[in-house]
Amino acid sequence: MTHHVILGAGPAGVIAAETIRKHAPQDTITLVGDEAEPPYSRMAIPYLLMGNIDEAGTYLRKTPSHFANLRINQLLAQAVSVDVAIKSVALNSGGCLNYDRLLIATGSRPARPPISGIDSDGVHPCWTLDDARKIMALARPGARVLQMGAGFIGCIIMEALKQRGVQLSVVEMGDRMVPRMMGLTAGGMIRDWCEKQGVQVFTGTRVEAIAPGAPLKVRLSSGQTVDADLVISATGVQPHIGFLENSGITCLQGVLTDEHLQTSVPGVYAAGDCAEAFDKISGTTIVSAIQPNAAEQARVAALNMVGQRVELRGVTQINVLDTLGLISTSFGNWQGVPGSEQVELTEHQAGGGQGRHLSLQFKDDVLVGCNSVGWTEHVGVMRGLVEGGIHLGPWKDKLKQDPTRLVQAYLASAQAQGMWHGAGDGQRR
Ligand SMILES: Cc1cc2nc3c(=O)[nH]c(=O)nc-3n(C[C@H](O)[C@H](O)[C@H](O)COP(=O)(O)OP(=O)(O)OC[C@H]3O[C@@H](n4cnc5c(N)ncnc54)[C@H](O)[C@@H]3O)c2cc1C
Repeated sequence: MTHHVILGAGPAGVIAAETIRKHAPQDTITLVGDEAEPPYSRMAIPYLLMGNIDEAGTYLRKTPSHFANLRINQLLAQAVSVDVAIKSVALNSGGCLNYDRLLIATGSRPARPPISGIDSDGVHPCWTLDDARKIMALARPGARVLQMGAGFIGCIIMEALKQRGVQLSVVEMGDRMVPRMMGLTAGGMIRDWCEKQGVQVFTGTRVEAIAPGAPLKVRLSSGQTVDADLVISATGVQPHIGFLENSGITCLQGVLTDEHLQTSVPGVYAAGDCAEAFDKISGTTIVSAIQPNAAEQARVAALNMVGQRVELRGVTQINVLDTLGLISTSFGNWQGVPGSEQVELTEHQAGGGQGRHLSLQFKDDVLVGCNSVGWTEHVGVMRGLVEGGIHLGPWKDKLKQDPTRLVQAYLASAQAQGMWHGAGDGQRR
């Protein structure tokens, strides 16, 4: 009987365990997680902060006996090292766990910027349920909250913080908001929108030091000092893979895998935020720390772990972001690739409106990436064109003249290539 050990009980670990059980009813499955709570979704944390759900609402599976019913053994422990020669995982409890197949699904963890005072009381990341509890205790109506970082996660939690009635300031060292997802115009529009919603935004600015106390005194590179009752550190995440050092499992930015999610060591797989998976579409390996990837990679890894030969189609590089009600998107190579051509359309809205922006990047007659702000109707189509690598033929020039004709371009080109499966779906099959 094969023993599957899964390290990490987040979405990737849970989906892998369930998939293995479905396809290998007799195998033994052990799911190791180092957080005390039942497996939960970090994506639900903003809703918890808003008060829309309670903690139980974040749990991935609602029936307490779910894992026992599936004969998935749960173990509260932290993996501290892996010995691939004897197929054994050492745990922080001092014990060891032997495996036949191993899945590394340990996710990512918040980057810790090297700032003096970062460990002060009242400074927290927003990554775990435990962080959320600490934030909720301090983010009371009227509290002064300073958020370091205006990336993907930073923008997502702003809405929740605003709804808690805090006075919010955001400090981003990049020259615009969401700099790793959005170009200058799009990032600038998001900033303008946030300011209209009453958020104080500092871009091109670093937090240099945090002096402990009540309030915390946050010194910025602009020379200003901002008082804060709570500082939230949202300065990015990195794969949680330090325990694999010296294991012989190849890690670059994340745990390197092939298209079957197998690592450099046969029988050892990786999935989710911690994985640097091979993307067949671009021909490169990519860490893309979003939940749809965690779910799909876990499913594919699990199928391979039970002996099926299944390939990952691609690593999704998609971000649809809701920043205080303003929807923006970023698909594929939104910055372009060598030799690509670009078209941009920007409509600035006077007064309190949102404005709209589209930026499309073409390589030959393929849309290789795009950014949008304020367009919601094109999301499925943009994804379909970029992920499908659909040849636009004459539609490329038409789009360069009028980028808003994306839906027509998609229908005409995808249909011609037999890739159309219904308007608004936009997924390659
Ligand atoms: C506030 C917030 C909002 C988000 N919103 C979105 C969103 O809107 N859309 C989206 O796509 N994504 C979103 N994400 C990101 C999404 O949550 C992650 O992509 C997803 O959780 C990845 O799943 P995972 O299973 O790979 O990792 P994780 O969910 O991080 O789970 C990994 C688990 O492994 C545990 N672990 C780590 N090391 C060890 C070890 N050595 N031994 C045992 N256990 C270990 C961790 O503690 C954790 O419990 C959000 C994240 C946050 C924090």
